[in-house]
Amino acid sequence: MKQDSLLAPDTVPVLVPTPSERPYTYAVPQGMHVEPGSIVAVPLGPRLVPGVVWDADHKDDVDAKKLRAVEHVFDCPPLSEETRRFVDWLARYTLAAPGMVARMVLRVPAAFDPEPLTPGLRRTNILPERMTTARERVMETASDGFGWTRSGLAHAAGVSLSVVDGLLKAGSFEEIDLPPVPVVARPDPTFGAAQLSGDQQAAAETIAAPVREGGFSASLLDGVTGSGKTEVYFEAIAAALEKGRQVLVLLPEISLTHSFLERFHDRFGAPPAEWHSDLAPKTRERVWRQVADGRVRVVAGARSALFLPFSDLGLIVVDEEHDPAYKQEERVVYHARDMAVVRGHIGGFPVILSSATPSVETRYNAETGRYRHVKLSRRFAEAALPELATIDMRRTPPARGKFLSPPLVKAVGAAVERGEQAILFLNRRGYAPLTLCRVCGHRFECPDCSSWLVEHRFRGQLLCHHCGHHEPVPEACPECGTLDHLVACGPGIERIAEEVVEAFPDARAIVLSSDMLGGVKRLRLELEAIEKGEVDIVIGTQLVAKGHNFPNMTLVGVVDADLGLANGDPRAAERTFQLLSQVTGRAGRTGKKSLGLIQTFQPEHPAMRAIVSGDADAFYANQIAERERGQLPPFGRLASIIISANSRAEAENHGRALRAAAPSGEIMVLGPAEAPLALIRGRHRFRILVHGPERANMQAFLRALIASAPRPRGSVRVSVDIDPQSFL
Ligand code: ADP
Ligand code: ZN
Repeated sequence: MKQDSLLAPDTVPVLVPTPSERPYTYAVPQGMHVEPGSIVAVPLGPRLVPGVVWDADHKDDVDAKKLRAVEHVFDCPPLSEETRRFVDWLARYTLAAPGMVARMVLRVPAAFDPEPLTPGLRRTNILPERMTTARERVMETASDGFGWTRSGLAHAAGVSLSVVDGLLKAGSFEEIDLPPVPVVARPDPTFGAAQLSGDQQAAAETIAAPVREGGFSASLLDGVTGSGKTEVYFEAIAAALEKGRQVLVLLPEISLTHSFLERFHDRFGAPPAEWHSDLAPKTRERVWRQVADGRVRVVAGARSALFLPFSDLGLIVVDEEHDPAYKQEERVVYHARDMAVVRGHIGGFPVILSSATPSVETRYNAETGRYRHVKLSRRFAEAALPELATIDMRRTPPARGKFLSPPLVKAVGAAVERGEQAILFLNRRGYAPLTLCRVCGHRFECPDCSSWLVEHRFRGQLLCHHCGHHEPVPEACPECGTLDHLVACGPGIERIAEEVVEAFPDARAIVLSSDMLGGVKRLRLELEAIEKGEVDIVIGTQLVAKGHNFPNMTLVGVVDADLGLANGDPRAAERTFQLLSQVTGRAGRTGKKSLGLIQTFQPEHPAMRAIVSGDADAFYANQIAERERGQLPPFGRLASIIISANSRAEAENHGRALRAAAPSGEIMVLGPAEAPLALIRGRHRFRILVHGPERANMQAFLRALIASAPRPRGSVRVSVDIDPQSFL
């Protein structure tokens, strides 16, 4: 403990959004009031940067005379103690610099100043000397005594602006300041409560009770696709709103929010505030500010919404908790699902994890009683789960140069014939994953990454899916110069679309993927069109796999179920099981009979068998046993160290130095090995895998290792990934 007496009393630690390991100390000018959490502007080098006044145990012993002073305190609610502790905790756990974590909270500097008041008008008691019908209408419209904007009033009364101006001049109106307009109306917990089924009601009671009681707890809402998990957790949200607490719902994919927003609106009479990277800057500012002021009660957002400055958060729901999109792999490397649980723990409120296919870790926590396990084993109402079958690609292969096997083509045809819809799912964007020259064998590779260029035929480009590098598809081979001899190898969704158009020229087909031109807006329109039955066949990537309710969808075809099994990832089987359950779960949302067909070369693989048999319990038991055998999470701990540099040798050498610095003990250090993605954006990559028992303090170990290794020099960069999800 440092002694406060060594410090001038009027200094504060300020955490600034830089890679600094700790807050810097600043002087507080006389007459300025700051407290822990205050958002301030401080000089840093030649710049003025935003920062947060941190807690006193962070103070440095510094010479008070040399201190620079806090320049300005923003008129903004201070960050809560809960938020500050969350930032500290997350930084310690992920080994990120606290300043970089704070940076995620301080993303929207324009919101630190209060929203400007809008000039408005309010009726006085004075009647104008000359009354006209137009004037009467205005007086009548404003008779409720509320404030109006000048144009809003004119519009509502159906008169021109000059009529309003005339009444203002006549003294019948006075000028007032109107408060900022809320981004969303207040949700009403009693607005449109659903009639829950018996199962749903019981589940809703179980997860809403801890919300009413308060205090930390974690629950897994584990229900098959279409069982009504959303309706059920809405009851927990209602309970939080009734207590006057704020709610955060995390969603893995913004494309999902469309139907979610509508359903939320129907249930609560107002939409939640959205938070994701696609928001307009002005909206972003207003949402951030109104979350801080407590005026926004419910946020539905992507993982970054965890870092919003909630003033009174009382519940987090993590929808599709197993989704890999919750892992952030850049800068501060964290898992939003895990950090949501941490935030609940720190804030002393419940967290609900919802999924039809929970991650093995979460499922294990539920089975061992760390999390409450709430199950929904049936679909709502008359909806039945689809019948599932594999198509053995060795026995019924597609025609030459095609990718859809005869049984799948037949099933699609039958669905379209019946006036129903089909999805063909392939988790690969573009036309073909590899292009080569038939004459010299040249393969098109990204100049900056170790990956093949993917042909996107609609755009006429070859595209790198790692760095975005693109070039036009050439007519001649750049290697041998032969014209018109480039061949596309393997399928992407655009190629499947081509096959579909050939086979079903009269069907209305649509391609859906995240890189579609037109962005989120267009995507939402297309999803709506599918919902309304304006499309017969959907060809899509994982974007179509999640959460959507397409009532008339009775066939799901998985084009290549083996795609995720190839890369040696320890979670490959789990991921495949999750993705295929999700995507086949899009079928059969109404009473109609439905079918899921899975094209695979390995129908005997445990993941395929689990899908077809529907025996998820056996699959999880098997996965948990396998994790235990390998001492993998949740039975052991993993961390990755990724070393990258401009040259291969530099990266490898630094990897070796890190390895050599590893303290000996029960924690094992494997590598450095060249990463499967050996080159990304021109940077060479090596990986070290750190594997320890469950009780091990990985953070202390890694800190010691990094501290005793030489500092990275030149272009070398080291990043640590605690609980890695990707091993590429
Ligand atoms: P899940 O998230 O488990 O896949 P959803 O919550 O999306 O399931 O529900 C599936 C469909 O069933 C949705 O269209 C939803 O509106 C409907 N549904 C579920 N429960 C009810 C209910 N109690 N009353 C009315 N509709 C319901
Ligand atoms: Zn690239």
